Amino acid sequence: MIYHDYSLFTNGTTFADAYSNFAQLPQLNVLEKIWGAYYYYMGNDVFATGLLFFSVHEFMYFFRCLPWAIIDRIPYFNKYKIQETKLPSNQEQWECLKSVLTSHFLVEAFPCWFFHPVCKKLGISFEVPFPSWTTICFHLAVFFVLEDAWHYWFHRGLHYGVFYKYIHKQHHRYAAPFGLTAEYAHPIEVMLLGFGTVGIPIVWCMLTGSLHLFTVCLWITLRLFQAVDSHSGYEFPWSLHHFLPFWAGADHHDEHHHYFIGSYSSSFRWWDAVLNTEAGPAGKAKREQKMKLRAEMAQKKQI
Ligand SMILES: [Zn+2]
Ligand SMILES: [Zn+2]
Repeated sequence: MIYHDYSLFTNGTTFADAYSNFAQLPQLNVLEKIWGAYYYYMGNDVFATGLLFFSVHEFMYFFRCLPWAIIDRIPYFNKYKIQETKLPSNQEQWECLKSVLTSHFLVEAFPCWFFHPVCKKLGISFEVPFPSWTTICFHLAVFFVLEDAWHYWFHRGLHYGVFYKYIHKQHHRYAAPFGLTAEYAHPIEVMLLGFGTVGIPIVWCMLTGSLHLFTVCLWITLRLFQAVDSHSGYEFPWSLHHFLPFWAGADHHDEHHHYFIGSYSSSFRWWDAVLNTEAGPAGKAKREQKMKLRAEMAQKKQI
């Protein structure tokens, strides 16, 4: 049940009828009215959640990839390209698009339809009104931090011998990534790293009993934006990591694709910084500096 009191609701068959029912509830904001009307109109919660999930994923992914595909075709932006001589060809973009779409329909479309029963079982709410923005932002922050940790360790593991050879090598086909390559990966990798995005909110709800489906949709959208942007291949003076130094961004992940080793995390820089796994010459210089400092300290102690 999306709302507790349907006594004032009139019967109607269109989405506009459903919306006008929710529009009479002054305690709901516009987003909550649209959300409520959507579920009320669909009349089948399992189908409504499955369709919502699949659509949010498809729309947000390609919506975020589009500006990067346009920027690739505008010479003015070449000066911001991290690996400036490596612009993706039309052929490469087309091949990547076909592979990503196949993966979306074969690997990701199927589990979407099971998400509603999982929500019901675990108590992930889909009712209106939504939780407060403070709660939503807290949940989003927790998911960002936990997903980043999951991604760091499993991505680092995927660079190990056979795992790299048979699974992760596919994602590294493009040494100079572009937006669409964010989800260009082997199905096992899609499921393993995808667990960080979908599984962590599920486990969170199992432990705390507090989560709303709207928060999950927002989280998936933000995580997709993060993944596409980090594969964009562009570094601007206004890129987020200039304002939030611990934010990873394209600069961090491009180095991973360029050098194949190091910079394993997704959203933040702290795991790579603390565990000395930053990629590229800058990472190497930092490691050498740290080792030099440590050697000097040890020498001082001996004196
Ligand atoms: Zn990798
Ligand atoms: Zn990548």
